[in-house]
Amino acid sequence: MIGFKNRKISASQTMQIKKYSIPESTLVYKPNSPFMARVISTTELTEADSCDEVRNIILDVSGSGIHYIEGQSVGIIPRGERETGKPHKARLYSIASARTGDDGSSTTATICVKRVFSKDKSTGVRIPGVASNYLCDLNPGDSVALIGPNGRRFLLPDDDSTDLILIAVGTGIAPFRAFIRHIFLEKGFWNGRIRLFYGIKNAMEALFLNNKNDDIGQYMTQETFEAFRALSRVHNEDEEKGYVQHKLAEHKQEVWDMICAGNFAVYICGLKGMEKGVDEVFSTLAEQQELDWPAMKTEFIKNGQWNTEVY
Ligand code: NAP
Repeated sequence: MIGFKNRKISASQTMQIKKYSIPESTLVYKPNSPFMARVISTTELTEADSCDEVRNIILDVSGSGIHYIEGQSVGIIPRGERETGKPHKARLYSIASARTGDDGSSTTATICVKRVFSKDKSTGVRIPGVASNYLCDLNPGDSVALIGPNGRRFLLPDDDSTDLILIAVGTGIAPFRAFIRHIFLEKGFWNGRIRLFYGIKNAMEALFLNNKNDDIGQYMTQETFEAFRALSRVHNEDEEKGYVQHKLAEHKQEVWDMICAGNFAVYICGLKGMEKGVDEVFSTLAEQQELDWPAMKTEFIKNGQWNTEVY
């Protein structure tokens, strides 16, 4: 029994989640001796008129001894050196493919990369991000220094009756594509409910849920799965404008019922800024029932029920 503001919540309402196990046989590569993976393909995920370029890059990891599972990430070390003459540091990307890879051969890993630019504050000149531009400029056949796989926490629960609440913005959708493909393509079903809340600028940028690539959207016919999009930059009066937390708030009753039933796992992936808005939705619900949300969340994190990967 854990204490809350004015009432107690029973042990059945908080439970330790047992997650999928990482294969013991996997090799893990370190920055001083990366595996040289080969680019199999690189394709644009966003539609032609979208504001951003996001690429799906499939890497050949055959011969590496790598056996990753959904929710893990890999590091990529950009070619070249920093101004100091030292090699570039590795950048982490969530693996967007399920364990057997996009071709089912278990020898590939897919990453999802947005081409990023920053602006020099004094001159206003656009500066290309080192890793994202390096990766987005790669061609099939090129080799890439890869480390990992890493990550032991952002993994699916063993028990497929667990309700899954997946909350992403932008390229933060990558690990959820891996989850959904593992569940419906490799495993075949999930008994618990799966609710995906996804925030993007406009419909063309709904990665894996757009006309160009519907890898997630195609499973919306599955009985246990529903996905909801929040569009932040629509100009069309027919479409509602909002962030992912607003979409979550629209479905607050169902989500709160899942939390109160106890057999759930929440996963949040994307921008650091989204965390506050998501948290406000849950804390408002908790307060209405005189529950102490910070204490509940602490317990959920300890249990592996509350999983966050934001940058
Ligand atoms: P983005 O395109 O800049 O933004 C995606 C959406 O989030 C937009 O609709 C944006 O709205 C909205 N947004 C902005 N601030 C928000 C806030 N405070 N609360 C809720 N929504 C907000 O996103 P991105 O560039 O793809 O970035 C995704 C993040 O995911 C990056 O930080 C990346 O490091 C991280 N990530 C990436 C991977 C991967 O494998 N590639 C994996 C895990 C996490 P407006 O712009 O219209 O305001």
